[in-house]
Amino acid sequence: MAYICPFHKTDCMQLSSLLSRFSEPETLRMAKLGRELRAKGLDIVDLSLGEPDFDTPDHIKEAAKKAIDDNWSHYTPVAGFLDLREAICHKFERDNDLHYKPENIVVSTGAKQSLANVILGIVDQGHEVIIPTPFWVTYAALVQLAGGKVKLIKTELEKGYKITVEQLESAITPKTRMFIFSSPCNPSGAVYTKEELASLAEVFMRNPHVVIISDEIYEYINYSGEHHSIASHEEIKDRTVIINGLSKGFAMTGWRLGFMAAPVEIAKACDKLQGQFTSGTNAITQRAAITALTSPLDATQEMVKEFANRRKRVLELMREIEGFRFPEPDGAFYAFPCVDHYFGKKDGGDVISNADDLSMYLLNKGHVSTVTGSAFGDDHCIRLSFANSTQNIEKGFQRISEALQKLK
Ligand code: PLP
Repeated sequence: MAYICPFHKTDCMQLSSLLSRFSEPETLRMAKLGRELRAKGLDIVDLSLGEPDFDTPDHIKEAAKKAIDDNWSHYTPVAGFLDLREAICHKFERDNDLHYKPENIVVSTGAKQSLANVILGIVDQGHEVIIPTPFWVTYAALVQLAGGKVKLIKTELEKGYKITVEQLESAITPKTRMFIFSSPCNPSGAVYTKEELASLAEVFMRNPHVVIISDEIYEYINYSGEHHSIASHEEIKDRTVIINGLSKGFAMTGWRLGFMAAPVEIAKACDKLQGQFTSGTNAITQRAAITALTSPLDATQEMVKEFANRRKRVLELMREIEGFRFPEPDGAFYAFPCVDHYFGKKDGGDVISNADDLSMYLLNKGHVSTVTGSAFGDDHCIRLSFANSTQNIEKGFQRISEALQKLK
């Protein structure tokens, strides 16, 4: 029998108005389209992947197996096991020279949940949240979910897709509640230097009403040398929240563990929210995370070495493609070329007006899946992931090149 809505007395399924505030991530939509074509028997080269194509290191898997045998099978504290939060504090000391206490740490089911907690915990109706573009799409969706107003600041290719002090300064108003950015950045690969972060920190020192969310999930995947956190500026540390997790640096996307380091009041708010949404994250993952965060980073470094080789090859291949313009990515595992050279061109019935069209054309005609830049707030670019073998990357670029040559 059809569902009868008690309010409208019809068989319509009335869903909450909350759902209309944000959309499904474009990254997931492209992955779905690629899967559908593959299911039809087509050989699709996947350059849309947002996760390392490596296995989780053995010593972490062993720790998880032991946790199962040792019966870590009960509910966990909402903010995470104390010894895990201590291990996270140890990680911040070791890698970032940052000093936190366990009460500053909240462990969640992925960095995505950490972001959801902190945005829902701080942003209210009408608050403005500044996000430099291109940005990871979930930031804007979560701000909209919280009833906040997203204020996108367009960064330029020539500036390496990094926000300038002048841009930041003029974007801040009395209504600004939050600033969210990632370094290394998904999708551009931009990495802010120590000096650039110091200049941004100075702006925040003049604006004590702004909370800074620094997403550092790609911390270890850095080709420029050192990772710096804006939280190392003591003057703003008491309103900076670092987001990090195991997904990218330890090839553990499916294990679902993220964490934040935050001022105690914010950590408590996030604990309260999470207590009603999901409670503490998976016990086995938490035990394995202690091993991940306290062991030497050899496996991570091996993975990054391989990403660095692929990045070099991707840059060579991109330079061979007519009209691609791009800064070299200093971190993460993505290239983000501007493809507007192809706008206005066509191949038979396929007309390219923007990055969405080009990404769809490459999928349908070239059999290569990419992600349109509009998923990240920039409809002039596409994101090409090098979380795939060099062989597949070369095959994918060969196809991209052939497909683009057909556009006149
Ligand atoms: N932040 C950025 C910039 C990301 O790219 C991602 C995943 O793609 C996340 C956060 C979420 O990571 P997690 O798998 O820990 O939820």
